[in-house]
Amino acid sequence: MSLLAPHELPAVTVLHPDSHSPFFFTCDHASRRVPACLGDLGVPATEWARHIAWDIGALAVAELLAAHFSATLVATGYSRLVIDCNRQLWRHDCIPELSELTPVPGNCNLTEAERTRRAEALHRPYHDTIASLLDARAALRLPTVYLAIHSFTPVYKGEHRPWQIAMLSNRDRRVAEILMRELQRETSLVVGDNIPYRLTDETDYGVPVHAERRGLPHVLIELRQDEIEHPEGQRRWADRLVPLLEIVARETAQTGI
Ligand SMILES: [Zn+2]
Repeated sequence: MSLLAPHELPAVTVLHPDSHSPFFFTCDHASRRVPACLGDLGVPATEWARHIAWDIGALAVAELLAAHFSATLVATGYSRLVIDCNRQLWRHDCIPELSELTPVPGNCNLTEAERTRRAEALHRPYHDTIASLLDARAALRLPTVYLAIHSFTPVYKGEHRPWQIAMLSNRDRRVAEILMRELQRETSLVVGDNIPYRLTDETDYGVPVHAERRGLPHVLIELRQDEIEHPEGQRRWADRLVPLLEIVARETAQTGI
């Protein structure tokens, strides 16, 4: 039986699929929705409001940026507590039994068939959509800068995080370095470089699979959630990032990266 009933929203949403903008946005943790047949996974309502269910504010910022540039944005339709679209399927925490300190009873002791059902309904369509859009751009020889928009909790396991924004990268640091250089001109900003997370083949999916393998310039942008939980902050950060992304487009085009 299909995980999503016919009346439910799709696993993936796409804005401006035919865009020729150099920017290609993704939002892996855009939603806290759960397929109706899974109920609440045994997780209390108060926990569903927290960062463990989704990247608070990230979709709104991604939508503002995609709207400004009329750029493609691909976003997930369901919560990462159902399946994490920024994890390899073989990883146990792709369907987490514990998130931060919150148990997810509905994810415990799943059969292989149940794991496959979630992957086929949610993970695969999301990544197939990204891959086919990138294939189409490559066929048109469009330059592409892959930008994964995420957000992180200001307090994790009791620890406060001072960074307001962070650039995550791995082998190819070029876009990360341009954005850090520009952000650090605002001396009051606290900018993280691969902190509070690192980007790795083990812990990520979107950037390693779609951007690195294709040789696309890219970065994973993490915004601290208290900066972007309200529309005013979302707008402020989008407005701050727009001119910096224009610099990225210029510099990546010049150097042919
Ligand atoms: Zn995220």
